[in-house]
Amino acid sequence: MSTETLIHKLKKHSIKDIPRLFKANYDHYIRHDLPYYLYDKIPFGYAPAPRSINIKITNRCNLNCVMCGQTATRHQKWQQEELSADDWIHFLRSAAHFNPYISFWGGEPLMFDGIIDIFREIHRLGLQTGIITNGLLLEKYAPDLASFDNLHIGISLDGPPEIHDEVRCRKGTFQKMEDGLNAVNHFRKKYGKQPKQLSVIFSTITPKNQYHFPELIDTARRFNPEEMCISYLTFVTNELIAGTNRITEEQLNTRFDSLEGFKADITQYDIPHIEKLTEMIRSNEFNVPFKLHFNPVLNPDEVKRYYFDMRFTMGRKTCFRPWFIAELLPNGQLNFCPDFPDYRFGDIRTTPFLKIWNGTEARAFRKLLKKFKLLPMCVRCCGLLTHQPRSVLRH
Ligand code: SF4
Ligand code: SF4
Repeated sequence: MSTETLIHKLKKHSIKDIPRLFKANYDHYIRHDLPYYLYDKIPFGYAPAPRSINIKITNRCNLNCVMCGQTATRHQKWQQEELSADDWIHFLRSAAHFNPYISFWGGEPLMFDGIIDIFREIHRLGLQTGIITNGLLLEKYAPDLASFDNLHIGISLDGPPEIHDEVRCRKGTFQKMEDGLNAVNHFRKKYGKQPKQLSVIFSTITPKNQYHFPELIDTARRFNPEEMCISYLTFVTNELIAGTNRITEEQLNTRFDSLEGFKADITQYDIPHIEKLTEMIRSNEFNVPFKLHFNPVLNPDEVKRYYFDMRFTMGRKTCFRPWFIAELLPNGQLNFCPDFPDYRFGDIRTTPFLKIWNGTEARAFRKLLKKFKLLPMCVRCCGLLTHQPRSVLRH
């Protein structure tokens, strides 16, 4: 129900109905919509408790994909430090009172010892949770994963089987992922539960798969997802890196070295072909039984600008994430930019989370964003593309 509909409904009621209507709509309008309108009006860089917490639980991975942007800083010592499962469980108990959605990613999150204990605790706490996985370990953990009704599974799919394997740089990865998803549903059936619908398939257009999207979308049908999200690419240029560091070194005393991993050779993209693909998806030519969309949503004539014109920000004026989404690193530090974790602070083992969330460093970043609206690194960041707060508020 939109705000206009609410006003229309209110007009039909007498004044004494208002408290009852207010109570009935509290969750929808106060908890969800109000922060959307007010989030950046809160002074001094403060923010309400986050709606979502994304936990990058490990940087370790059992693959070495061709497009992985994490390679630039994965070797650094701080990237290799990991909290224990007990540390995370302790943290989750302390955060449960503000009811965040908890999402796990990595690296490969199923490589983290104790991940099932963590899911068990999240289930006990009554929180919703999700995992983005490359699928290689799904089969191993299928008996446990099948038991969690509150767990949303997302996978990355890069093409039909042979192209997926080529992008993932290892033969058999597609088959292993499919076997894993089937195993989860085998155990769901055994436990008398409905099959688990895959929540989301993420696909990124790369030079290797750009000519294979019709087969890729056809392959996605096998998994019956709720949603398939195709991304153009998260990338930066040398100019964006230099521009970012000029600002952040002066204002935050931080260099964003991770940006180096996201440089891409854009000349390898067949722009007319991607424009055509964009048009085909916009006009629903694939006729799939799930939500199929691009991220960001572009007109075909905007595709070229996306890749080549860094002044084009797709209508986005700023990034809202630091007000709504916390990104936690394997070592328990907080940051705001999922792919670029150079500005990081705190330690959830030693400081209460909400103290870090509204601490000096966090507020300095929000204030910087309020001042500049967008930093150069923001313009092709996946964080900017999901720019509507409502898309994360209503999880
Ligand atoms: S599975 Fe993900 S984290 Fe691992 S190498 Fe591939 S892209 Fe990188
Ligand atoms: S858009 Fe900018 S502020 Fe937002 S997550 Fe990305 S890099 Fe960070």
